Amino acid sequence: MDILTVSHLTKTYGEGETATVALNDVSLSVAEGEFVAIVGSSGSGKSTLLHLIGGVDRPTSGRVMVNGIDVYSRSDEELAVFRRREVGLVYQFYNLVPVLNVVENITLPVALDGRPVNQQRLADLVAKLGLRGREGHLPSQLSGGQQQRVAIGRALMNAPSVLLADEPTGNLDTKNSADIMQLLRASNRELGQTMLVITHNEEIALAADRIIAIEDGRIVRDERIRR
Ligand code: ADP
Ligand code: ADP
Repeated sequence: MDILTVSHLTKTYGEGETATVALNDVSLSVAEGEFVAIVGSSGSGKSTLLHLIGGVDRPTSGRVMVNGIDVYSRSDEELAVFRRREVGLVYQFYNLVPVLNVVENITLPVALDGRPVNQQRLADLVAKLGLRGREGHLPSQLSGGQQQRVAIGRALMNAPSVLLADEPTGNLDTKNSADIMQLLRASNRELGQTMLVITHNEEIALAADRIIAIEDGRIVRDERIRR
């Protein structure tokens, strides 16, 4: 089953002579459980694509379907709920809430949604992320790699239809990057978590099931990796 379908998606920033076409008629489908790497040079439209799939912005035209939901038929309020329930976002610079501790950051989307925390899932996640004993730490008391693991926990806590990661290892050294990659891979294999990961990291791209390359707002390559 396709968990994600993008149809004729176009995004233009600005108007008139200064307008930038960031995405130009992009269509793609992703099956449930796929691990997709998105590659391409800086400014090619990768982040714009991820944000439009994640309900963070609105497209100029085209359609995004996530888990059967026609994302942009929704009101802004419904979109906020969509972002908390259906997608998990991971950024290069973690975007943790500085005044909340590890557990509070991980459970924030659930709390914002007014739903009870699944304590078993939380405990499993904390263990899997290697964050046991750090539950009460603030982001400032954690290394970059640990902060990114918290961000991944927050993204996975709601078991999203799609986890969307924008250069998740871009701020990390080789060892921490490898750890993050393994975590993403493990959650893909063990939980069947669908993943879309923007990356310049060759190892991540090669670990994916599929590589989509974007240039100038268009898909220029889309290939499955044979093993
Ligand atoms: P990538 O993630 O591949 O680096 P982006 O999606 O960030 O590419 O950007 C694609 C194009 O859209 C670039 O030309 C960028 O300058 C432009 N762009 C991105 N965000 C905005 C914005 N908020 N306002 C204006 N232009 C933008
Ligand atoms: P929402 O409106 O659904 O909270 P946002 O785009 O505001 O969506 O936030 C995206 C994610 O970042 C959410 O999972 C949310 O829990 C988290 N978040 C919200 N506010 C902040 C903040 N100030 N700093 C870091 N992360 C935040």
